[in-house]
Formats: sequence, structure tokens, C-alpha cells
Amino acid sequence: MARVALVTGGTRGIGAAISVALKEAGYSVAANYAGNDEAAAAFTEETGIKAYKWSVADYDACKEGAAQVEADLGPVEVLVNNAGITRDAMFHRMTPEQWREVIDTNLNGVFNMTHPVWPGMRERKFGRVITISSINGQKGQAGQANYSAAKSGDLGFTKALAQEGARAGITVNAICPGYIATEMVKKIDEKVLNEKIIPQIPVGRLGEPEEIARCVVFLASDDAGFISGSTLSANGAQFFV
Ligand code: NDP
Repeated sequence: MARVALVTGGTRGIGAAISVALKEAGYSVAANYAGNDEAAAAFTEETGIKAYKWSVADYDACKEGAAQVEADLGPVEVLVNNAGITRDAMFHRMTPEQWREVIDTNLNGVFNMTHPVWPGMRERKFGRVITISSINGQKGQAGQANYSAAKSGDLGFTKALAQEGARAGITVNAICPGYIATEMVKKIDEKVLNEKIIPQIPVGRLGEPEEIARCVVFLASDDAGFISGSTLSANGAQFFV
């Protein structure tokens, strides 16, 4: 029987590449999304992967969504917490709403989605929880106090939960991508991207979503059973202190 993987934000960008790579690796994949029905329908049409709509910011919706996926495909054995948003602003201009939206999706969303599938993973003595954090959670980024706080929180979550899951055969890991060519990065002003961001990436280019997807496939595999509580940086040698 194919293992079941649930990918949040799995119909666009990095998440779409993860969904496809997991399907190609033999998993039965469910791709969650928040609101972009058109993109989700096109994704399902193209890949044959079923899309499920709910917000990871809503705990009850996550519980119901996970139950629906399990009813359709079987127990979730691999959870990829990928859904994420940006609401960038310098802190003196950041509104409480911008702060809350990002924390609710990028940090609380990880709790909301992991919590309902965790007891089943413990019972079955197998699980993989892989959270897509960010280089900006590792180093902090001006204009992203909300995003950096959430993504940094994801790393603490990962390290703590890895210890709790260890005896139950569950690994919990995070991936910190650098700048990847998706809609999220296309929102950045082109001049800032070309003159400030890309020159700081030693390999001289943005990453591709598939390059992150391959990291996920590895961390989900049996081969990665001894890797837990770790942070895999995939950022084109963008070192920071
Ligand atoms: P995109 O904006 O391209 O796609 C985001 C996906 O997340 C979409 O499928 C979107 O759904 C979904 N989503 C957003 N909010 C919610 C929500 N509340 N509930 C469920 N799904 C939601 O983002 P990327 O592919 O660029 O980013 C994916 C992840 O990687 C994010 O966590 C991001 O922070 C992280 N990351 C990205 C980097 C980059 O350079 N792109 C760098 C480092 C980290 P819908 O289609 O319905 O809008």
C-alpha cells in the first residue's frame, strides 16, 4: 500500500512541486490549499492529485480536513507543513492584523495541522513531519518581523517535537529554503530582487521549487530514519551569521 502524504499549500509554488515529487516517489498524495480554486483545479487537472480546501489557520478546519483525507486515502503518514504567506512591512508600520495573519498561518497553522495527525502516527509507530521554514527564520529579515518570528518558531517546534516523536518512530524535520522562484518571491520588487537579493546568493540564481521538493522526498523516506530534529538549509550557499 502506498504511504499517504498530505501537503499543505500543495497546489502552487514549492508545495505543488512537493506534491508532484511525492506522487512520483510512490506516495498517495493529498494537496491542501486555502482559496485559489482556479489554481487548485488546474493543478488537479494536470497532475491527477486531489486538492482539498481549508485554511491551516483554522484548527477545526484542519481536524475536519485531515479526517476527510484519511477517509479518502488512508492514515496520513507524511505531513508536509508548507502553507505560508507574507505580509511584509517595516515594524513601525506593521499592523496587528499583518502580525496575526502571518503567525496564524505560518506558525499556528503548523500546530493546527500536526496536532490532528500526531496521535495516529504515534499509534502506528511511524510518521514524518516536515515543515518548510525559511532562511529568514534562521537569520531574521528587516521588513519581516512577523514572518521571521513565525518561521523561527517553526524551528523550535521541530526540535521539541522530534524529541517527543523519537520513541514512536516519528521524525520531525524542517527545511529552510533560501529564495525560490515562486509567486511569493515574484511579489518582491524586481529592482530589489535583481540588485539586492540575487547578488547575495553565491550560486547567483534563485532556487527552483523542485530543489526543495527533492529534500522533502529524502526526509520522508525510510533512508532518513535517523534524521530528526534537524534543519536542512537549501539556499545556494547564502551563509549568514
Ligand atoms: P506560494 O505563495 O507560491 O504558495 C503558497 C501556498 O500556500 C498556496 O498553495 C496557498 O494556497 C497556500 N496557503 C496560503 N495560506 C494558506 C492557508 N491559510 N491554508 C492553506 N493553504 C494556504 O508560496 P511558496 O511556494 O513560495 O512558499 C511555500 C512555503 O515555502 C511557504 O511556507 C513559504 O514561507 C516558504 N518559503 C518560500 C520561499 C520562497 O523563496 N518562495 C523561501 C523560504 C521559504 P492558495 O493557492 O489557495 O492561495
